[in-house]
Amino acid sequence: MAKKMCKLTKKDRPAKIAELSGRARYICTNCGRTADSAENLCEAVAMDEL
Ligand SMILES: [Zn+2]
Repeated sequence: MAKKMCKLTKKDRPAKIAELSGRARYICTNCGRTADSAENLCEAVAMDEL
């Protein structure tokens, strides 16, 4: 049930956003958000590959 970080806004629970981005290993090239799972982003790219 991966929720897209890209869909999250400030109206979502900050704790959830922090949880998803706390160990961020991927960044979305579409909207610039970060997450620890590519599944949470719409255009995920591993930061290691940047
Ligand atoms: Zn995105």
